Amino acid sequence: MAHTDVVVLGAGIVGTSIAVHLAKRGVSVALVDRRGAGEGTSYGNIGIIEGNTIFPQAFPGDWSALLRIALKRAPEANYHLAFLPRIVPWLAAFRAASQPARLIETAQLMRPLFARAVAEHDALSAEADGERYLRRRGWLKLYRSDRAFAAQARELELAASLGIANVPLDREAARALEPSLAPVFRHAVHWSGAVSVTNPLALTRAYAARFAALGGIALTGDARSLHRAATHWRVDTAAGPLDAGDVVIALGPWTPDVLAPLGIKLPLAVKRGYHRHFRPQGNAMLSRPVLDAEGGYCLAPMEQGIRLTTGAEFAARDARPTPVQLARVIPAARELFALGEPVEAQPWLGARPCFPDSRPVIAPAPRQRGLWLACGHGHWGLTLGPGTGRLIAELMTGATPFCDPKPYAAERFMQ
Ligand SMILES: Cc1cc2nc3c(=O)[nH]c(=O)nc-3n(C[C@H](O)[C@H](O)[C@H](O)COP(=O)(O)OP(=O)(O)OC[C@H]3O[C@@H](n4cnc5c(N)ncnc54)[C@H](O)[C@@H]3O)c2cc1C
Repeated sequence: MAHTDVVVLGAGIVGTSIAVHLAKRGVSVALVDRRGAGEGTSYGNIGIIEGNTIFPQAFPGDWSALLRIALKRAPEANYHLAFLPRIVPWLAAFRAASQPARLIETAQLMRPLFARAVAEHDALSAEADGERYLRRRGWLKLYRSDRAFAAQARELELAASLGIANVPLDREAARALEPSLAPVFRHAVHWSGAVSVTNPLALTRAYAARFAALGGIALTGDARSLHRAATHWRVDTAAGPLDAGDVVIALGPWTPDVLAPLGIKLPLAVKRGYHRHFRPQGNAMLSRPVLDAEGGYCLAPMEQGIRLTTGAEFAARDARPTPVQLARVIPAARELFALGEPVEAQPWLGARPCFPDSRPVIAPAPRQRGLWLACGHGHWGLTLGPGTGRLIAELMTGATPFCDPKPYAAERFMQ
């Protein structure tokens, strides 16, 4: 029977980063996925390593925004009507966590992870020869109205007090950074310390190659085969059954598929999101990601083309794609930037794995010896992958963790 110290289930940015960090500490590790590294949710994000994030995405605070979403007119959110009854308890918890005092608390509890995000990617990419995928030009948030810009004042002030670089710009100063943007906005903020990725798939693959170079084993297998075999955990792989004393579940939105049979129920929902690549028209170009804050979309230059991404869709994870949000945002995106023909025939669909309090779980699983959880990174999995890898490797090897892990414990959902 093949045996390793640890099996990591899921080779997204989170699982791959964990595997590298464990292997670096001399632990024998197998990384198991049914697909290639980085081909799940980690393939399709907008590529921003957001060391600047302070407040999480919040439940809409004003009735007009809610009404637009209810009437399916909002660019930032969509839903499947038949799915609503299933998601109502999660939405209620998300709404409660979006009260101003709770948002501040979340910001404080998440800060240690965000503060390390860029440095942890820097360290991993340096050893993985992945630095060529990192672009150090920050990102731009654009505001079409004075009202939307004014609403950011509190966050900008707080960011400045935390030493997070941000530069409010008028339209022309922003266009000096990105001359291909049309003057359809009034204000911008340049989050100059953020890093962006030119190809998130290639970056995850570079980390996976580093894992292999450290002696780690990558195997194809179905995580749902995980079960206890005497004192060990066992998972079936294409190379045969594999035993390990410890298992890390890093299955992103698929985490419940493995946890539910083990009797572990966590409030993990998905916010689905789409992307599509477009060729730029003529000489139009972007050199960093851009968010059209009121438009509800992002544009980012990727190796595959200009990637246009959407906000959240509340629907069952495996329900058929309904990319209506892309259709809603394309006119505004074309107004801002000269998007040409789409690159692919169909949009890509991914699912952000989200807990209602916008914090991941990075912790031992409750009541299951040798089982560890690293899931629920929501809108920030690319950002937080390497830091999560370090934190869980430190916890598993008994080292002093670089930050207090308590805010990321699963027990917070078990009272
Ligand atoms: C449109 C969009 C934009 C985003 N933009 C950003 C951004 O700019 N910055 C940022 O930080 N984050 C962003 N995110 C979020 C980020 O992409 C995710 O949080 C992150 O990719 C989650 O990583 P993960 O490793 O947990 O999950 P995944 O990448 O989904 O990895 C899970 C792995 O588990 C595997 N798996 C599933 N089931 C099984 C099974 N039964 N057996 C074996 N293997 C299995 C899958 O194949 C997959 O490889 C965005 C997300 C979306 C959708």
